[in-house]
Amino acid sequence: MFCYQCEQTAGGSGCTKMGVCGKNEDIQSLQDILLYGLKGIAAYGFHARELGAVSEEVDAFMHEALFKTVTNVSFDLNQHIAAVLKCGEMNLKIMEVLDKAHTQRFGYPVPVEVETGTRTGPGILVTGHDLLDLYELLKQSEGTGVNIYTHSEMLPAHSYPELKKFKHLAGNYGGAWQEQKKEFKEFSGAILATTNCVLIPPDNTYLDRLFTVGITGVPGAAHIQGRDFTALIKKARSLPALPEAPAKKIMTGFHHTAILGLADKIVAAVKAGKIKHFFLIGGCDGAKPGRNYYTELAEKVPADCVILTLACGKYRFNKLDFGSIDGIPRLIDIGQCNNAYSAVQVALALSKAFNCGVNDLPLSLVLSWFEQKAVAILLTLLHLGMKGIRIGPTPPAFITPNVLKVLQDTFDLKLITTPDKDLAQMLKK
Ligand code: SF4
Ligand code: SF4
Repeated sequence: MFCYQCEQTAGGSGCTKMGVCGKNEDIQSLQDILLYGLKGIAAYGFHARELGAVSEEVDAFMHEALFKTVTNVSFDLNQHIAAVLKCGEMNLKIMEVLDKAHTQRFGYPVPVEVETGTRTGPGILVTGHDLLDLYELLKQSEGTGVNIYTHSEMLPAHSYPELKKFKHLAGNYGGAWQEQKKEFKEFSGAILATTNCVLIPPDNTYLDRLFTVGITGVPGAAHIQGRDFTALIKKARSLPALPEAPAKKIMTGFHHTAILGLADKIVAAVKAGKIKHFFLIGGCDGAKPGRNYYTELAEKVPADCVILTLACGKYRFNKLDFGSIDGIPRLIDIGQCNNAYSAVQVALALSKAFNCGVNDLPLSLVLSWFEQKAVAILLTLLHLGMKGIRIGPTPPAFITPNVLKVLQDTFDLKLITTPDKDLAQMLKK
């Protein structure tokens, strides 16, 4: 454990074995899980608030949960376990608020094929998750001759009617966030970072053409105020044009409302034995080794199974050709990590359609985590009672062996092993 939040911290530097206050490493672990879950809620709540949507209930929970982590408030293990599960419940609520705010503002996403190449002319590459920033930029750049490209988690923007209507929303460039340093250097236009995950550019590469907006900030990069993108558009027009370079198209936009439109087909295909199993392979991407597990797993999923995916981990396999089963794509991209609400709705709708509990569905969840929104989403899934979830590529360092055991005993939470071993186990379900 590590805690140095109060004056009595051990040796004036940090409690590492046991708190001077009496807090043990398991309480510290649960408090960290709670704090990280709250950070995830904060991200979703921030986006929703920017669109004018708030939740008094979630805000009140955040105050209560933060208060619980103050020195000498609670040393009770069960209270802390209840708080982290409540955090999952509140995350579901705020994801619902955000989903409604997105669909009310930008319409219901529709499945769409997205270009991954570039068009001749100046361009701006937009990364992050803030659809409102992208919308304002599209409005302000219309008719200027500048094409707008999405990077990484902005991909699902192409499926929202109020965004896709802009003809100069030209495509999706590059892969997941950890490729930025290479891909942003190669992209000759200007770059806009709207939220996480933005990286600090290596010296003398693209810092002079990197802009940040809203919550983001990078030393040396110009920061946009009040969503006035004039300087960014001007910069893009002054930079070398991108080449005409068509490339493979990728599908996205399977919001739960779009998947529910396929519900009859899906149910019929399952009943006819044409679809045997669903896999949700989703979550963050990252730079550490071990993440090729997810590519290998997706590649090894049998031909009579469907893969649901979301968030930027999918860049490891979303350009592969998975084909379809009776018109149902075998790879269904639900969207951003901000669309995790849709994934939950799909699971609940499937359990309704097959008249069984979520844990009785032929559905396996294999998640990749990187940062704190993933923690909030995992807590949501646990709050919903989902069992047998696999997480990786590495166990969170802030979960102690005792807390991990509680999660394993209660929720059958598993760490990933090898694609072959995990696949064989999952297909037994
Ligand atoms: S709150 Fe407890 S564990 Fe944290 S620094 Fe203070 S005494 Fe140590
Ligand atoms: S899915 Fe996670 S890792 Fe990927 S961009 Fe979003 S927050 Fe970052």
